[in-house]
Amino acid sequence: MKSKKKNIFIAISYVILVAAIPATLLFSKFIGNKLTEHIRHTIKNAADLCAELIEQQYENDMLLLESLAVRMSATLESDPQQGIDRMVSTAERYGMKRIAFSTPDGYTITTDGIEMNLAGVENFEKAMSGQAHLTSVISDIVDNEDVNIYSFPVYAEDNQTILGVLSAVYHGDMFKEMLSATAFDGEGYTYIVDRNGDVIINTKHHNAITDLDNVFAYMTRQQQSEEEIALLRSNLKNSEQGFLEIYNEKGSRYTYYLPLSVNDWYVFSVVPKRVAEETKKGVMLSITIYCICISLIAIYLVLSIRQSQREKNRLLKKALYEDTITGGRSYEKFKLDCQERLKTKSKQNAICAFLVIDNFNLVATLYGNEESNAALCRIYDIVNTCVGENGIVCRNGSNHFCIMYFYNELSEIETNIAQFNKMLHESDIFENMLHPSIGIYVVENYEESVDDMVSKARIAHETIKQGRSTIAYYDVSFRNAMYEDKHLEDEMEYALERHEFVPYLQPKYHAESGEICGAEALIRWITREGDIIPPGKFIPLAENNGFVRMLDREMFSMVCRLQKHLIEKGIEPLPVSVNISRQLMYDKSFVDDYYQMMQEMELPVELVQLEITETVLFEDFGLFRSTLERLREYGFRILMDDFGTGYSSLMMLKSVPIDEIKLDKSFIDDYSDQKAGSIIYCVLELAKKLGLPVVAEGVETENQYHYLKQLGCDFIQGYYFAKPMAASDYIGKLI
Ligand code: C2E
Ligand code: CA
Ligand code: CA
Repeated sequence: MKSKKKNIFIAISYVILVAAIPATLLFSKFIGNKLTEHIRHTIKNAADLCAELIEQQYENDMLLLESLAVRMSATLESDPQQGIDRMVSTAERYGMKRIAFSTPDGYTITTDGIEMNLAGVENFEKAMSGQAHLTSVISDIVDNEDVNIYSFPVYAEDNQTILGVLSAVYHGDMFKEMLSATAFDGEGYTYIVDRNGDVIINTKHHNAITDLDNVFAYMTRQQQSEEEIALLRSNLKNSEQGFLEIYNEKGSRYTYYLPLSVNDWYVFSVVPKRVAEETKKGVMLSITIYCICISLIAIYLVLSIRQSQREKNRLLKKALYEDTITGGRSYEKFKLDCQERLKTKSKQNAICAFLVIDNFNLVATLYGNEESNAALCRIYDIVNTCVGENGIVCRNGSNHFCIMYFYNELSEIETNIAQFNKMLHESDIFENMLHPSIGIYVVENYEESVDDMVSKARIAHETIKQGRSTIAYYDVSFRNAMYEDKHLEDEMEYALERHEFVPYLQPKYHAESGEICGAEALIRWITREGDIIPPGKFIPLAENNGFVRMLDREMFSMVCRLQKHLIEKGIEPLPVSVNISRQLMYDKSFVDDYYQMMQEMELPVELVQLEITETVLFEDFGLFRSTLERLREYGFRILMDDFGTGYSSLMMLKSVPIDEIKLDKSFIDDYSDQKAGSIIYCVLELAKKLGLPVVAEGVETENQYHYLKQLGCDFIQGYYFAKPMAASDYIGKLI
């Protein structure tokens, strides 16, 4: 589920990345258009500003002239000198070059004392015809300097008769200064054109086109399209404003034109395309860099996520596929490699082997962890060398190795194993204290899972534990036995609930008198089908999974009930012994529990005896002894079962409190053998000296019985007298 989510995430990231490129382009284009719009807007603003300044100036100047004209007209007749003084002071105050007054015949006097005749001069004539007028930048008649001249008619009091013309002469750079208010960091400029396209007021700006006299003529010279020129012409004619590109060798100019309310003038605000584009380019560059950075960050993120995922996968694979100790294959990797090879090598034979270095763990404790790990590495290397190209090897658990080996002749395997033993011996690992054993399964069906193959090799290996050889091949019957065991193990718990476990009783007899003196309770599993399963089949399994404690308790409780039943029936009960498993000895509560059960049934403790074996003594002497002491404190009688088969039977006699010895059947079987005979003799002598009665187990023949009786054995238990029997039969023997 998680990896699915990750894949979706990666797919989305890729889509975003791929989409990022066209999206960036589209976005750039969008921004580009916006910028072009912005540039036009900026130029238009510059044009607006200039127009406003010029119109304002024009209006103010005209108002000034008008008021001067009104005053002049009032004093022209009565006090002409006063008019001239006013002209002088006005010219000075408003920074004009001069003011001139012309009489209708053209005779003119100026504030700087010049006399001339303007008859026939355009602005004079226009004013005389009643039109206020402003010239373009023209040459001063007096000194050829650039000037602009306002002309205004001076009316008589009747407001109809024109008495003369007032002309205000301004320095030509007055308007030019106004035109210098521009945008684009001083790179833009403005000039004024009339409706015919003639440049009225030009600028000396460094970007200005020098040979521009008439806009239409210029555009024609630059071979701009007819349509463009026609559109401009019609727009100028109709007082429309607009945007225009004018070509020039040094680069085109973006222009905005706007009609003025002064004469038929137009403001043309201009910025070289280069400047505008540079501004645009700067912004576009920032945006592109920004987009690229974002994309790079996104790519970096996606790649680093992928990288970290790969790293995680690698570590995961390593953890999954690598054995931490040998650095070689893990079992998972072994399975994968085997599956692969089994597919491709289907025509070859294969075995699956389970190699165990039997006493490795025991020996390893003498050498410590580091040396043990190094030893495992070397063993792994040796196995690998032996199988070579034809095999796949892995370590599986502490001292176990799995091998899949492809061969042509079965004899190759024996040769290989011999070589392995030789190499292991030569390597002298742990001073050659290691004993390898190997279970082999000859693969029959290549479709089988590797797990199954390994478990068959394992089953084969299990048989070695019971035998003595170091190599064992897989046998189907053994597998069936394993399955049967598994079935029994699964069933056990339900069987207990269904009371399928019952005690069989094998009576014990006085050797001397041949009279019955008690019995041993031996468990039987009677299935629903009525089959009797002997303890040898299920007790070892129950010992493995700990269930044996429940079984022991069940036996104890049933024996108690049997004794109680006998008492109630008025039959005198004889002591019956029950078997105590090793596991139960570790259960601290069992002593009190058993005693309490007897108390509750009001049974004398002597009626149930306990048979124990010495295995726990070997494992935990303290526990063993304290448990026995507590049992004896309660009054339980302890029987030492299978005496003589353990490692420390004699030590047991010395160290722990017991009440009776049960001499193992194996001695009785071989009683005629000299050694066995001597042991029986000695045990009986020893027991006599210690004051311990002896029960001989598994007495089957009359000869055995007589032999034992003659040596002074106290009690006899065995088929010669009686086999284990159902409780009812046992009761029959007591009556
Ligand atoms: P064990 O405690 O040594 O019991 C004696 C075994 O020898 C019994 O086998 C008995 O039937 C058998 N036997 C007695 N006389 C003869 C004879 O003359 N010839 C031969 N061939 N066998 C004889 P069984 O009943 O099959 O029990 C086997 C083992 O199972 C017992 O050996 C004991 O270790 C274990 N066992 C039986 N019942 C219980 C139980 O309730 N709890 C525990 N923990 N173990 C039990
Ligand atoms: Ca026993
Ligand atoms: Ca026994």
